[in-house]
Amino acid sequence: MSIFDDNLIRLREIQTLENIKDEELAVLLEPAQTNYTELDIAGHKFPAWRIVYNRALGPGKGGIRFHPEVSEDEVKSLAFWMSLKNSLANIPYGGAKGGIKFNPKEVSLEELEVISRKYIDYFYNFIGQDKDIPAPDVYTNSQVMSWMLDEFEQRAGHHEPGMITGKPVELGGLTMRADATAEGGYLLTQELAKKIINKKELKVAIQGFGNAGLVMAEKLFKAHYQVVAVSDSQGGIYQETGLDIPSLITFKAQKQSVHNWTSGEKISNAELLELDVDILVLAALENQITKDNAQQIKAPYLIELANGPIDNEADQILIANHKTIVPDILANSGGVIVSYFEWAQNRTGQILAEEYLRNLLQKKMINSWQRVYDKYSGQEAVRSLRQAAYSLAVQKILVAEKWRGKI
Ligand code: GLU
Repeated sequence: MSIFDDNLIRLREIQTLENIKDEELAVLLEPAQTNYTELDIAGHKFPAWRIVYNRALGPGKGGIRFHPEVSEDEVKSLAFWMSLKNSLANIPYGGAKGGIKFNPKEVSLEELEVISRKYIDYFYNFIGQDKDIPAPDVYTNSQVMSWMLDEFEQRAGHHEPGMITGKPVELGGLTMRADATAEGGYLLTQELAKKIINKKELKVAIQGFGNAGLVMAEKLFKAHYQVVAVSDSQGGIYQETGLDIPSLITFKAQKQSVHNWTSGEKISNAELLELDVDILVLAALENQITKDNAQQIKAPYLIELANGPIDNEADQILIANHKTIVPDILANSGGVIVSYFEWAQNRTGQILAEEYLRNLLQKKMINSWQRVYDKYSGQEAVRSLRQAAYSLAVQKILVAEKWRGKI
């Protein structure tokens, strides 16, 4: 089953839950706009997409991913999730996503720049601060955003600094953007730990040691959680008494895999997922927990810092096993919320203090959490935090579509 088919099943569940008419749901069953090309770079073809899923709440917004496994099914699903994420976060955006299918680890820095620029060169007419606003995602960062901004500005001038977010500070970005996804996830973990788990010395395992997972590990370590296992694409490392995260970060910065860290036990990514910990943070890619391993998951609390790490069949098994899952569209929304701060600042020219923005991020995260949790605990038919989050997000989009006269 494709990732997108799974989303359709989840949407149909929300339809039943909220009595949504077929004609209304129809606007959410397919993307508003799909752009595809093959970027031609020195005779090599690179499949590239930009998909806007929905525009009811505003322009398209969502990252661009560079990965050898990128597909239309994946980009479409990611764009769908962005629509729900932006809706739930109450920020004035629809949802979009982009991707280029190649392995960024196998190209030189010069080639990476050419590929990044070519993407904007091709999709130029579809991108803009009022049309569709890209940002970083898996294996893209502020350097990639800078090349893309520059390529755009060679045609448009400096009129639209908010055409892309996740830029470096010197080009109009916010320092806090780089760790915003992890910061949001961390705030929710604290909320969960304080109000729901109610236990001291929490053990955590984190799958993924990139943009999100590494920063999450750092924050949890500082807050005295016991981070007993982390992993990257090569594999993981486990230490029952807790890993020395600051040293692991230094090790990783030397282009080493955490799997080769000398103190602790080498484990596979699959083994990490099945560890007996209090909290499992999923910060890698989609479909990490499926019907094949869902039954073996021991952690009672799971946090989806990545997009789509648990498929629908696995969701059903985990719910039956009384696991609490903080869903992606809530757990990782800190990134796009700070993108919104950046975009707003670029448009007004006003410079806001970081302290003010950090407080605002916290308020927004806790507010979303509270709405989702209230919906989940207040309505028996709502079976999971995911259903609660999807339901709130979908209904808001549909109300906007109604105001627009589209349904
Ligand atoms: N790629 C991130 C996400 O999946 C951030 C998107 C953005 O900042 O626009 O939420």
